Amino acid sequence: MKILSVNAGSSSLKFTLIELPSREVLISGLFEKIGMEGSCYTIKYNGEKTTKEASLPDHSVAVTKLMDELIENKVINSLEEIDGVGHRILHGGDEFTESILLNEDILKRIEKYNELGPLHNPANIMGVRAFMKVLPNVKNVGVFDTTFHQTMKETEYLYPVPYEWYEKYGIRKYGFHGTSHRFIYKTISEYLKRDDLKVISCHIGNGGSLCAIDSGRVVDTSMGFTPLAGIMMGTRSGDIDPSIIPFIMKKTGKTADEIINDLNKKSGLLGVSGISSDNRDIEEACEQGNERAILANKMYAQKIANYIAMYNNLLNGADVITLTAGLGENSKGMRKMICERIASLGVKIDDAKNDFRGEFRLITKDDSKIPVYVIPTNEELMIALDTMELIS
Ligand code: AMP
Repeated sequence: MKILSVNAGSSSLKFTLIELPSREVLISGLFEKIGMEGSCYTIKYNGEKTTKEASLPDHSVAVTKLMDELIENKVINSLEEIDGVGHRILHGGDEFTESILLNEDILKRIEKYNELGPLHNPANIMGVRAFMKVLPNVKNVGVFDTTFHQTMKETEYLYPVPYEWYEKYGIRKYGFHGTSHRFIYKTISEYLKRDDLKVISCHIGNGGSLCAIDSGRVVDTSMGFTPLAGIMMGTRSGDIDPSIIPFIMKKTGKTADEIINDLNKKSGLLGVSGISSDNRDIEEACEQGNERAILANKMYAQKIANYIAMYNNLLNGADVITLTAGLGENSKGMRKMICERIASLGVKIDDAKNDFRGEFRLITKDDSKIPVYVIPTNEELMIALDTMELIS
């Protein structure tokens, strides 16, 4: 079975064609600058990466171009060979608790949550409609970033603010990165052959979130009403005192939207270091003794460690801690810094085991009270697996 896993942005379309059940990636790529000058697309196929310029006035043209490429490269012989398309959708509010087969009625229901994810949801939906137009006979499935977190209880998802904000305006914690956390739980629970695991899943990339999971159900997660909350990230502040916003508005004359933009795009590793949001640049600057980079690096590790300690308490003792995404998978330095800061939980990192990048491995000593695993995430595969299940 061939399933396309798709993530559509407002001017981009990322795709991976996956063969199931073998999980083989047949072809993948990215269409960029859709609807803009200089549009192009990159395709990874047979170990080679090629970029081509193309006029892409809208997402439907990009999807048509994608189908042409699949046939030209002989990945498929006809469009009938595409069994289903799975779409990443950012926000399903508190209505969608599972992935779902998409049709026009469902899309209209999802559109209700566009104001909660204004940068992503309209674009995700536009991507679905483009596939419905070009491949009218193929089933589409929506896989939401929010659904996995729908098992949180009121005590976790409510904010201690006037209750009518929740009732009237839907102000609550929704949580994000759910597809990644779900994939990580599935992977570790299959590996350890246990479905009753208490896991603290740490997705630490440019965006970052932690998730406390008990027996496959989310108990709490660090992102909130929006992906701005929780740990410090590449450019996002994570949790801060909200009183800072009106204070800086008065000091600088900026609007609330401008300050939120600063908190989303000019904070985190970038804001503290003044150098970059990219951890590789920060690590390089740390090696050269740059004090602000060293400060940013330490703050970053500490915020994650604090959340791990909090979730260990919430879970009444975790069985496993997992690290994933750009930093979790690749930065042995950051992994070590985090583990050193949770030594009070009995975590003992093994430096020799930690010396690698991008693989599934255990990085703690045998007598570590909680084992820490590095697990490469694979949201595309999770989307494809959900799609296979729903269309079968
Ligand atoms: P993601 O958003 O998951 O793609 O993660 C991006 C982050 O991972 C960036 O801050 C990168 O600097 C970081 N990253 C990727 N590869 C490495 C590496 N080899 N060493 C350190 N950090 C890395």
